[in-house]
Amino acid sequence: MIDLDALRSCTRCELASTRQRVVIGSGPHQPRLMVVGEAPGRYEDEGGEPFIGRSGRLLFQLLLEEVGIDRDECFVTNVVKCRPPANRTPKRQEITACRDWFVAQVDDYAPRVVLALGNVAARAVFGYREGVGAVHGRIAVVAATGRVHGDVTQASTRGLATYHPAAALRGGSSVVDVMRRDLRILRQLLEAA
Ligand code: URA
Repeated sequence: MIDLDALRSCTRCELASTRQRVVIGSGPHQPRLMVVGEAPGRYEDEGGEPFIGRSGRLLFQLLLEEVGIDRDECFVTNVVKCRPPANRTPKRQEITACRDWFVAQVDDYAPRVVLALGNVAARAVFGYREGVGAVHGRIAVVAATGRVHGDVTQASTRGLATYHPAAALRGGSSVVDVMRRDLRILRQLLEAA
């Protein structure tokens, strides 16, 4: 079980000294979908919730249109729970320091399917070495979770990676089109899960 008080006061990496808040995640237990981003940005650091800025608006619009799923039905979190200064990419050491929290969340929340957004999440969630450009839309198994109830190991959790919505905001309609295609594959996976 994840120790939320310990997570709220975590000092396992240097982001603890610059963050305003640890952005843990939000949403129901046993959701149909767990959405995993990279790390909180400025709005999330202030507001304490993931994906509450522009990229979150685009993401949940696409999820509604292509998958028919509302934000309220998803558990939403990030690989790294604290904002990197100036929104830089999290360092390897920060991703490693945060990993146990993420693994505990997958185990506790037990999502049916996981969606990873962008390079950092694709690598952390599915263990890819390649960037998201090479692996998006592929159905994969969530890496390294130890979900065990009693002595029965649960079936592995599946999902896929797509581009980060911030890349779509920068890259325009061609990136959005790829995300829409990936999300249609996600829809089929959810229907089968
Ligand atoms: N980008 C992310 O990866 N996560 C957020 O929560 C916000 C922006």
